[in-house]
Amino acid sequence: MKKYTIICKQDEVSYAIKQQLKDGLDGTMIYDEEHPELVISVGGDGTMLYCVHCYEKQLDKVAFIGLHTGTLGFLTDYQKDEVEKFIDDIKKGDYHFYNRYLLDIKTNKGEYLALNELRIENNMRSQVLDVFINGEFFETFRGNGLCVCTASGSTAYNKSLGGAVVCSGVGIMQLSEIAGIHHNAYRSLGSSLILDATHRIHFESQDFRNSVLGIDQHVYDLKDVKYIDVCLSKTCARFVQYKHVSLMERLKRAYL
Ligand code: NAP
Ligand code: MN
Repeated sequence: MKKYTIICKQDEVSYAIKQQLKDGLDGTMIYDEEHPELVISVGGDGTMLYCVHCYEKQLDKVAFIGLHTGTLGFLTDYQKDEVEKFIDDIKKGDYHFYNRYLLDIKTNKGEYLALNELRIENNMRSQVLDVFINGEFFETFRGNGLCVCTASGSTAYNKSLGGAVVCSGVGIMQLSEIAGIHHNAYRSLGSSLILDATHRIHFESQDFRNSVLGIDQHVYDLKDVKYIDVCLSKTCARFVQYKHVSLMERLKRAYL
């Protein structure tokens, strides 16, 4: 990998680290924002989400790696006191690639990719949603909404919903409820449902009023949307690994 770019969070620490990385890599690699082979994210996990979406039209040519300027993240491998080690590792060039799965999302209004998840959310009134899986009617959900995450996104919003944490290399999507209403008249599964690549989820509603479609850090209006389809994408986001940080270490640092 010769050509690289750096995308950083808009804060002083991240700007300073971006400059330090640029100085360190000067002479070894060429800075190219338009056609990079390596995209370095400096900031949080949210910054990495932003990076992947910035280059979502050229995912076959780009690889990602991140340095976290807060605590150790889930989508990033280095921390802010490891800038020199990061530069050395890149210069040594001893790495391998691994893929993170993405979701393909289609509505009658557009097509999207998600690294973390999609959320159908309504905090004004209870949202009624019919859920079909592989064309078969599954349930009618009532509540604030539903979330479908990837393995990479399982530690994000999904975790706050009580969903399972999944190690990132697994090709699954996980459907979780956002404040589902459960009583005699309204029944939905309640627990999270984990599905593999052979499944396609279809959501329909008579009324998406006041509901929004959240996809990673983006939020879209559901006005005039009739249905939302989601499945695992054939496109993956390619990440570079110079050093291994276990999921257990990430979980311990973040939550335990
Ligand atoms: P944000 O409000 O800054 O992100 C919320 C938190 O989610 C941040 O602490 C972020 O980490 C963390 N995060 C993002 N991706 C993660 C992942 N794959 N694993 C573990 N933590 C992760 O908004 P943002 O930066 O634009 O990120 C959007 C994401 O925020 C959404 O995809 C959603 O998953 C998450 N979110 C979570 C909740 C919730 O848990 N209740 C609510 C809304 C959104 P950094 O601080 O390192 O950026
Ligand atoms: Mn963030």
